[in-house]
Amino acid sequence: MNGGKRSLTILHLYPREMNLYGDHGNILALQKRCKWRGIKTVVVEYEPSKKLPKEVDVIFGGGGQDSGQSVICGDLLKIGGKLKDLVEDGVPTLVVCGLYQLFGNFFKTLDNTVIKGIGVFNLKTLGGSERLIGNVVAESSQFGEVVGYENHSGRTFFEADLQPLGDVKKGAGNNGEDFEEGVRYKNAIGTYLHGPILPKNPKIADFLIETALTRKYGVTKLSKLDDDLERKTRLSAASRPR
Ligand code: GLN
Repeated sequence: MNGGKRSLTILHLYPREMNLYGDHGNILALQKRCKWRGIKTVVVEYEPSKKLPKEVDVIFGGGGQDSGQSVICGDLLKIGGKLKDLVEDGVPTLVVCGLYQLFGNFFKTLDNTVIKGIGVFNLKTLGGSERLIGNVVAESSQFGEVVGYENHSGRTFFEADLQPLGDVKKGAGNNGEDFEEGVRYKNAIGTYLHGPILPKNPKIADFLIETALTRKYGVTKLSKLDDDLERKTRLSAASRPR
């Protein structure tokens, strides 16, 4: 399909504090993949005590250090109800690492500080002494092979029967124990994968875009792009040792 006058508003949560290992590249990937199809994007950068935009078509939030998570958590709790409503309403959402953890119930850091989350996902995260670092490959029933890079102390455990984003083939994923990576809930994805994830996993980027367009305009099919470079990048990323 061609863009026509179509436009998507992307809410970027806490770009200053929550932006590790190239997470901002996810915004660029969404913008580019929309632009190549003639779809306009408006990115609203949300920082503490700002107002949320009236219209939100896609939500994105990146990772951050424990200290960054502590800085934003008070504000996140204030807007948490609205974010939860948006996710429940089917707004396509991607949250990575630090914000994945805080979209859960809580993150108890290694020094026993409890950073409360907003409970969009029924899961908890416990800090571990050894950081889980390295390249990840996970197999997703929806997106095929998903590649990325992880660096976290937190171990995430589901507190309900949730669907992971994928099964870990390489790397640690949610906790290094159950071979699951990330979570899929409604049209939301939580994941530990930085790198950033979207340029290397265009199927996930297009899922977010297509879902947003379908919700807003009733459009169902995106035009295909030449993803040869992305395919080569994925192959190279997937072949790296852990
Ligand atoms: N601070 C969190 C942890 O170490 C999240 C890190 C991240 O976003 N990469 O688990």
